[in-house]
Amino acid sequence: MTQYDHYVDGAPFQGESDRFGDVYDPARGIAKSQVRLATSADVDAVVVSSAKAFETWSETSVTARSRIMFDFRQLLVEHEDELAAIISSEHGKTIDDAKGEVVRGREVVEFAAGIPQLLKGEYSDQVSGNIDSHTFRQPIGVVVGITPFNFPIMVPLWMHPVAIACGNTFVLKPSERVPGASDLVARLYTEAGLPDGVFNVVHGDKVAVDAILEHRDVAGVSFVGSTPIAKYVHENASRTGKRVQALGGAKNHAVVMPDADLDFAADHIVAAGYGSAGQRCMAISAVVAVGPTADTLVEKIRERSTDLKVSVGTDPDAEMGPVVTKASRDRIVDYIGQGEAAGATVVVDGRDLVVDDYEEGFFVGPSLLDQVTPDMSVYTDEIFGPVLTVLRVPTLDAAIELINSNPYGNGTAVFTSSGEVARTFQRKVHVGMIGINVPVPVPMAFHSFGGWKDSLFGDHHIHGPEGVRFYTQAKVVTTRWPHVSEESLAQLNFPTAQ
Ligand code: NAD
Repeated sequence: MTQYDHYVDGAPFQGESDRFGDVYDPARGIAKSQVRLATSADVDAVVVSSAKAFETWSETSVTARSRIMFDFRQLLVEHEDELAAIISSEHGKTIDDAKGEVVRGREVVEFAAGIPQLLKGEYSDQVSGNIDSHTFRQPIGVVVGITPFNFPIMVPLWMHPVAIACGNTFVLKPSERVPGASDLVARLYTEAGLPDGVFNVVHGDKVAVDAILEHRDVAGVSFVGSTPIAKYVHENASRTGKRVQALGGAKNHAVVMPDADLDFAADHIVAAGYGSAGQRCMAISAVVAVGPTADTLVEKIRERSTDLKVSVGTDPDAEMGPVVTKASRDRIVDYIGQGEAAGATVVVDGRDLVVDDYEEGFFVGPSLLDQVTPDMSVYTDEIFGPVLTVLRVPTLDAAIELINSNPYGNGTAVFTSSGEVARTFQRKVHVGMIGINVPVPVPMAFHSFGGWKDSLFGDHHIHGPEGVRFYTQAKVVTTRWPHVSEESLAQLNFPTAQ
């Protein structure tokens, strides 16, 4: 069994903890490695290393920081296959899907390599007689990323390249269910020439998270995970005076208008609902059929759902792998039963799926529930599995009202051939990321990613320009040259521009 230790000061670090968590191979249903779970003293040792590294890293030139990002990016290219294999073996997603997240994460490194441009300040000449003003931004200190299981490399990459390029030092607390990719990323940073202690990894569970939230030398926390924990992290990090952005769960709706191309919509809804076994925060889970489209749309989704190949992620023909744990599998199966008991029609039932040679794997097949109503738990709760639910509404306004009544506001999409519908939709929905004929509207690295309502606690979206703002604080300087002149005579009145 592989054993994952923390990574501190450019080397593995065991700390004092003798608690371990099991890391599963979800396709085989067996524990394949173990991860050390930090004590609060271990977290303290990691933060001390990061605080020490901050003293020199924050003084390193912006050009030198950028060059390390270029070298790190190249190593991510060279290790793409290895990273994808680790992700697939611990998460279960297919190799191609895992490669997709490596590429999308790498794009944040490409963005961060432009940090000299991103950190340029503003300058105002002659704001008063012989007086100029300029602004610039500085790093905030030691920042921590606490990340979920579903994107073992991409979600951490939303954070650390931007934070580090801005001059901060970074501690990653990855999901204890998928520790392998973070371990390799840490070694790649060292190989790229990042000084020891600038990127540290501490593995752990609630004990580690609580120690991070209480630590007085942690200046900022970026969290991505489920809504209850996002709320907890936001409240506690704020209480201890930290800057915090906490991205939570989701319930993403795809509205299908009567004027939409139904084949196109069905294809994309199936891909967005079942890709990664529905374990994406931007997965479509609620299909909102407007007007008379519903019966035809359900039939088209049914045909495509039953054709999907579900297997181990390393099978080149697999389109969907298992879900991450047995507990997830049981929870998803239970939700389908709750939907059925509440009156939904189970059109495609993935509950009893068994994959040959992987009988112990945590598999659930694609599942499709029709005639779902807003009071059913399959609609109110985030299932986080390969379950599509179909709700029927009479008009676009009713679809928008349904979306706006939902507590989550991460992503949503509309399928339509009407520009007018698209414009109304994007202006009226209370959701952070919107797709027009794009079912998974994940912003590119040079924009920022984030939801509304219970999908994000804090003021900043993640990566892109908002990431740069989150990981830096601004200064504004007012300068007088020459400083001894007629105009510089001191006055007791409140100064105004001359
Ligand atoms: P999770 O909330 O269980 O775990 C996220 C992190 O919090 C992990 O590092 C975990 O160790 C830690 N954690 C778990 N329980 C904790 C507790 N009681 N106290 C303190 N820390 C705790 O989430 P998950 O199951 O790993 O990931 C799936 C969730 O993440 C889904 O809800 C999904 O929608 C969400 N997600 C959201 C986004 C987004 O951008 N909004 C992106 C990816 C995933």
